[in-house]
Amino acid sequence: MDVTARNVLGIKSILGTELLNKHQIQQILDCAFYFKAIRNTKAPFPKSLAGKNAVMLFFEPSTRTRSSFALAAKNLGGNTVVLTKEASSTGKGETLLDTARTIEAMQPDVLVLRHPSAGSPHHIDRALAIPVINAGDGFHEHPTQALLDLMTLKEFKGNFAGLRVLIVGDIAHSRVARSDIYALQTMGAKVSVCGPPTLLPPQIEALGVTAYTDLRAAVRDQDVVMVLRIQLERLNPAQNPSGGEYARFYGVSTETLKHCKPDVLIMHPGPVNRGVELSPDVVDGPRSVILNQVGNGVFVRMAIFHLLTGGEALHEGTMV
Ligand code: ASP
Repeated sequence: MDVTARNVLGIKSILGTELLNKHQIQQILDCAFYFKAIRNTKAPFPKSLAGKNAVMLFFEPSTRTRSSFALAAKNLGGNTVVLTKEASSTGKGETLLDTARTIEAMQPDVLVLRHPSAGSPHHIDRALAIPVINAGDGFHEHPTQALLDLMTLKEFKGNFAGLRVLIVGDIAHSRVARSDIYALQTMGAKVSVCGPPTLLPPQIEALGVTAYTDLRAAVRDQDVVMVLRIQLERLNPAQNPSGGEYARFYGVSTETLKHCKPDVLIMHPGPVNRGVELSPDVVDGPRSVILNQVGNGVFVRMAIFHLLTGGEALHEGTMV
């Protein structure tokens, strides 16, 4: 089965935003907005996944991504089967590739993979005929997070061209940072990053971003401040800054907002460590769109399921 030949994106899988062009990102966002508009009218969703099955291999913890993929499939009439690391045979010595081939032999229509190893979805994708969706591979990419971030930005800011976005935190170990940098730049935004020197990857500027280590200087003139969690699970303990010290220099608080544009948007992919990278009043404050991001995650994942499994291009204008 040649999946690419029968899908409008012209790609088999969603492995990373580095591999998506502007047109493909636009098609995914248009489709996500279409589904959101349907939800707002309370009309039923098209059942484009009816009779189709998605297997979700989640080898790392997840709250938002896993539940929103499951809801997305269900909204479109599809089924999901979730397999975690603990529940799978990888603990008995089976390789990820063998697990994926075993799953494919049961003929699901799509495989969603979250895995701690960077590049694992690409590896699986080469061996499988069905579409693979990367739900986060180590510190590498988290494309559906970046796409839901873009959807949220489009809603609140209208346009990407020239939009100034600052990503603050553990840039070195964050798959969200990488996916957002690629996707935002493809759409024409101007991306900067800020964090302690130990958490900024060497040569980050080669990605076309401006790097800062001083938060106050970094936030000035930014339209959006995207705050990230320190990826403690990917750091060795020697790299681990103390929460209090980190919050003092890099925590975004009401005091930080005084140096921002009055209409700045505060984003965070979650989970938030309140009082470390973001103060509780900012998390719950009027500039925060964190829960809007979560809500949009369902529509973006619906769009990806719909388009990768052969659904037609949809946008709000196609609504009847
Ligand atoms: N939920 C996001 C991820 O899985 C961000 C985070 O965990 O910090 O990468």
